[in-house]
Amino acid sequence: MSKRARTDRREVERKLDKLTRDRRKLFALEPGSSETNPVEVTSASVIDPKARSLECPRCGPRMRVADQAARVVASRVHRILTMRCVQCGEERTVHYAVVPPLMQ
Ligand SMILES: [Zn+2]
Repeated sequence: MSKRARTDRREVERKLDKLTRDRRKLFALEPGSSETNPVEVTSASVIDPKARSLECPRCGPRMRVADQAARVVASRVHRILTMRCVQCGEERTVHYAVVPPLMQ
């Protein structure tokens, strides 16, 4: 490989790294990123499909459920899913709060 091609590749990798870091920061602000900022759902059954639509900050939509836990936070049931990218192994933790619809 020529020196020029190596330089170009390093440049592309640097840009990708920056993009990945920016996406991580963005995802950290989205609902679901923390216990105090959960995604609210009315039924636990929608959690898995929602979680599977999440994107890896590096590779895009290639995340699978790696682990899950349930916890009671402020008297609401939270489901905490660890999503792992099938491509690069990047992990994202997402918090869901199950909020049943109000009784009529
Ligand atoms: Zn990835």
